[in-house]
Amino acid sequence: MVCDCPVLRFQTNACVVMANVVTTEAPAFAVSSHGDMKTRVDFVVGVATRHAEEVDRLARFPLEAIEAARKEKLLSVLVPAALGGDGGSVSDVVDICYAIGRACAATAMIFAMHQIMVAIIVRHAAASRWHEDMLRRLAREQLLLASSTTEGTGGGDLRASSCAVEVVGDRMCLEKKATVISYGAEADAILTTARRSPQSAPSDQVLVALLREDYQLGRLSDWDALGMRGTCSAGFLLKGWGRPEQVLPAAYQEIHTRSMLPIAHLTWSGVWSGVAAGAVERARAFMRNARRGGSTLPPGAAHLTRAYASLQTLRALVASGLSRYEAVAQKPDEIDSLAFQTTMNILKVNASEIALATVMSTLQACGLAGYRNDGEFSISRSLRDILSASIMINNDRILANAAGAPLLVDVPVALSN
Ligand SMILES: Cc1cc2nc3c(=O)[nH]c(=O)nc-3n(C[C@H](O)[C@H](O)[C@H](O)COP(=O)(O)OP(=O)(O)OC[C@H]3O[C@@H](n4cnc5c(N)ncnc54)[C@H](O)[C@@H]3O)c2cc1C
Repeated sequence: MVCDCPVLRFQTNACVVMANVVTTEAPAFAVSSHGDMKTRVDFVVGVATRHAEEVDRLARFPLEAIEAARKEKLLSVLVPAALGGDGGSVSDVVDICYAIGRACAATAMIFAMHQIMVAIIVRHAAASRWHEDMLRRLAREQLLLASSTTEGTGGGDLRASSCAVEVVGDRMCLEKKATVISYGAEADAILTTARRSPQSAPSDQVLVALLREDYQLGRLSDWDALGMRGTCSAGFLLKGWGRPEQVLPAAYQEIHTRSMLPIAHLTWSGVWSGVAAGAVERARAFMRNARRGGSTLPPGAAHLTRAYASLQTLRALVASGLSRYEAVAQKPDEIDSLAFQTTMNILKVNASEIALATVMSTLQACGLAGYRNDGEFSISRSLRDILSASIMINNDRILANAAGAPLLVDVPVALSN
């Protein structure tokens, strides 16, 4: 049975409802090795599904699934073909986030965070020789990129840094107390925000690309969290060094507005939609199982209907956000506009809330079987994972920052724009 991959333009057969259980069909071949995109993604989803429970239980890095993504060369989906990648779009990436999210939220979020960094280099450092070489190497070696924005006690304020780049001659260095760097210990490179110089204001930021050989990590805290456990988002003292050209040429303010914010919110929303879809599949399997042999629907059936309805809303929200983004991606004036920025911020808040509501409805639908940590109908992992959505750049912070926007942005006069 083939399920439609909704936000999305390819289909995946990875999650299959068989009789009463949700399983993942592993492809018949050991390695799909560069078939079409669907085949490549299916392969990764199959591997992610097989290891998702253990990744969550042990809070360990989803090594097998990321290795599968490397084998399928999915880490370079966004790298231009001329540099060895697929030359794909943000929509392609969000599709993949959704597909993997149905199987393993942590793998999907790692994939999303990596792709945000790749997109930034492609979009903002195309003219830099150093970064072009980095992209070639990324495509060749399937490097995994992590990001470090959160610092000290600054929480989710991405637009202020405390650490600074220091340049001496043809060398630069920085030191950052990074509160969390997801898969920091496993990454091949880190992109980090910092003040442009020790004299710069906290908001005068740059983004610096550091390859594995350019930094040291000292562990500051571990990651034993409620959900998204496989992201291994530990805290580190990051000591980086290298050449001044490793600093991306564009100011972080521009990178943030045109890429970091919209692409993060879209890819994260893709992941959360996938998590919600995975929970709906589970609840659907539970209902089919409960109904077997009898003709009446179980009493919790209305909750499945509600879950299904909110999943539809979520898919439509993400899909419309994506087409909005793709339409303005190359138009700086439009992407910088308050209206577009507000749309992307509100997309994140809405997607996180609707995804949680969807998963809660699946929990109600499954009842005790969903509440259990064990068993084929457990909703536990989906619920714990999805609870990260509203705090990953806190919805309160986003709403407070966007508070003036409804006064300034006109109410649309037509439905279609
Ligand atoms: C799974 C996961 C992975 C992550 N991975 C990374 C990573 O790889 N790299 C990285 O740099 N960071 C990462 N982060 C951190 C993330 O980017 C945010 O920095 C973090 O979620 C902020 O958390 P906070 O609650 O400490 O801070 P804050 O967002 O500051 O929130 C703290 C509290 O203040 C409240 N609050 C904040 N601002 C306002 C406001 N304006 N009005 C009202 N209330 C407000 C919030 O409601 C909250 O109660 C990750 C987070 C998660 C959950």
